[in-house]
Amino acid sequence: MQLLDGIKVSNAILEDIKNEVDSRIKNHKKRPHLAAILVGDNPASQTYVGAKVKTCEYVGFQSTLSKLADDASEAELLALIEKYNNDADIDGILVQLPLPRHISEDKVINTISPLKDVDGFHPVSIGKMVLGQDTFIPATPNGIMMMLAHYNIDTSGMHCVVIGRSNIVGTPMSLLMSRNTNPGNCTVTMCHSKTKNLKEMCLQADIIVAAIGRPNYVTADMVKPGAIIIDVGINRIEDASKKSGFRLVGDVDFEAVKEKSSYITPVPGGVGKMTICALMKNTLLACN
Ligand code: NDP
Repeated sequence: MQLLDGIKVSNAILEDIKNEVDSRIKNHKKRPHLAAILVGDNPASQTYVGAKVKTCEYVGFQSTLSKLADDASEAELLALIEKYNNDADIDGILVQLPLPRHISEDKVINTISPLKDVDGFHPVSIGKMVLGQDTFIPATPNGIMMMLAHYNIDTSGMHCVVIGRSNIVGTPMSLLMSRNTNPGNCTVTMCHSKTKNLKEMCLQADIIVAAIGRPNYVTADMVKPGAIIIDVGINRIEDASKKSGFRLVGDVDFEAVKEKSSYITPVPGGVGKMTICALMKNTLLACN
């Protein structure tokens, strides 16, 4: 078994981005600028946005973080997005999801200019991705593709089972893995909560991408020997031995599954790191 080390791979890619920013500045080009918007005080969202802002600093991007109160109105948020859409200095806009229930995620995503849609969630970005045109690819699936490419894993002809069909992970992941690219060129099966024979599906998989949101859901008896395991899940479970009172685990029972897999991503230190890295790549792209 080989660990797909998100920390190592993302550090190498972030170093490249940093060097590119340095050379942009030397050549009197614009410094990339990411505007992040956080609504409310969801602790996980605060952590994610904090990590994104910190990574911007690390690679030399400018970042602006706007925090809106939990009860901020939808109109207030849309007005802020419009302000950033019209601000020539801002290259990328990200609104941390999930949003409080009184705000429509669709409306928010649709309001972000497709030119600044570094999360790749706008219908224009998704449409272009489906058609194989250059666009912003959602950060988590893009990060996974970058990871597979980094390890030179030839996925051509493999059967990839994606568990989960969300707009931000499962659906774009399925599309990317089925495209005529490498990584890609897989035969893809997309599973979800209504899938009847998930275990049988998984046992046929050369690659399993688990994006479910259930701790340790993929167990060793669901995995074919030698399969590649990509664990997207980030789940908090109680752990009295930790100062925070919790620890993070993935959707895959890592300890048992690692013995059967050829490659596997850990949680933490796997896909999450790559997600931030892919967001930085998109922001750089938005600035070009
Ligand atoms: P969603 O809740 O939006 O989607 C979960 C998907 O899993 C749904 O399609 C759902 O099916 C499916 N599902 C739920 N239960 C089962 C089941 N028992 N069997 C099969 N499928 C099931 O989650 P996200 O896609 O946003 O996130 C998934 C996980 O990935 C979460 O743990 C999240 O925290 C993590 N995540 C990690 C990121 C990273 O950077 N590492 C980034 C984004 C998310 P249905 O559609 O039928 O409801």
